[in-house]
Amino acid sequence: MQLVGNNDRYSLHPTEDTEMEGPFQLTDCVIDTVINNTGPAVFLLRRIEETPKYAHYRALIGRTDSNLSEMLKGWLDSNYRVFSFQYVESTEAAFRQQCTMWHQLEGPDGKLDNKEHPEPNNGQVIQCPICST
Ligand SMILES: [Zn+2]
Repeated sequence: MQLVGNNDRYSLHPTEDTEMEGPFQLTDCVIDTVINNTGPAVFLLRRIEETPKYAHYRALIGRTDSNLSEMLKGWLDSNYRVFSFQYVESTEAAFRQQCTMWHQLEGPDGKLDNKEHPEPNNGQVIQCPICST
């Protein structure tokens, strides 16, 4: 997969986001405006990494069982500039969706800042739908 190109290097709409809402600016005010549900959710944070020749996105995926707003606000002082999110029906669905995205974005060797494969919650018996970890 080609990640950088002259035409889309600042694109805010990578194709993997199709089921998510966003991207939105990662600010207090925007979070308060767009997040109005405290159910389980997955989210993606993105920052621009610049090299002398080009800029490209690095992303972090996370999930929460409740209070996405509070979770996102924990990243306000970070390098991440935009966020996307998707509400899901259960904590299990949140884990599975996070795993699916982890594989889609090819982990730390691909586009992600996440160093480790997602882990289930303590006591949660569930497997990654892609690699059965
Ligand atoms: Zn996996």
